[in-house]
Amino acid sequence: MSIPTPRIRSLLLATTALAACSTYRPPVTPFRAPASVPADSWDSILAHPQPITVTTWVTGEVKVDRSLLLDRSQPAAATTPDDKVWVPVLAHRIVHATRGVYLVDTGLDSTFAQRGRGNIGGLAVLAAPFMTIARQEVGADPASRLRAAHDVLRGVFFTHLHLDHTAGVPGLPHDVPYVAGRGSLDDAYESGMMAHIDHLRGVSQLEEIDFSAARELAPLGKAVDLLGDGSLWAIHTPGHSRGHVSYLVNATSGPVLLIGDASHTRWGFEHGVAPGKVTDAAASRASLERIAAFARAYPRVKLVFGHDP
Ligand SMILES: [Zn+2]
Repeated sequence: MSIPTPRIRSLLLATTALAACSTYRPPVTPFRAPASVPADSWDSILAHPQPITVTTWVTGEVKVDRSLLLDRSQPAAATTPDDKVWVPVLAHRIVHATRGVYLVDTGLDSTFAQRGRGNIGGLAVLAAPFMTIARQEVGADPASRLRAAHDVLRGVFFTHLHLDHTAGVPGLPHDVPYVAGRGSLDDAYESGMMAHIDHLRGVSQLEEIDFSAARELAPLGKAVDLLGDGSLWAIHTPGHSRGHVSYLVNATSGPVLLIGDASHTRWGFEHGVAPGKVTDAAASRASLERIAAFARAYPRVKLVFGHDP
């Protein structure tokens, strides 16, 4: 076999890159919320906790620019170094006494324990074939943890569809509901986050939550009662991505707010600095302010940040 000339080699490379770029995009359907409890305030909701628990798993770590985590144009963050940092990638196991087991976000699948780019493919890898963007201990992926716990997964709720939140999907059952905020899939493609991955292949449809008709629960804003008994609430916190969702787990052991990437870090939250990478900066700051007002009003709610458990 003849050795290809450099020109043919680069043509082959470009063809392979284009082929690797075509990713599966599931159809989007509306999420249908069940009939809800008649609560009209967080006071009444938190006064009636439910038999639900949440456990946060660190499924691995990714290396990112600190400027993605913190908006360095804000005075409080101006002197933070613009370096690369390793941050944990989370998935949250939700267990409801009668409804079963759900995940909020999926973290990284088991391929990240084998190679530093895990299941990230396409142009991103061709550009830097030996790059390490992630690290993971064997068994830390969500599928291994669900197997170890003999869990039967009932569904997956996403905060948003950036790759560090969808990379666990390939290892999970695909015949369960996958749910995100309205506009999440479009946002993921428009921001380029889906161009190099194929995480949702095999998922028959993505259900998106439309918050426009949802009840307003001050000070957090639009909220949807996902299981119909006041145990698990989706809260519209757009900005980092369109359709970003935070989740409130109304557990008898104490309420927990899974903030997601509405604030990646506790430092950012406590200093009022919104994420650096956003779809809509004004919406991102407004979401952060609403979460801060909620945290002040209900200090007993445990806060879990997107990349800072
Ligand atoms: Zn993230």
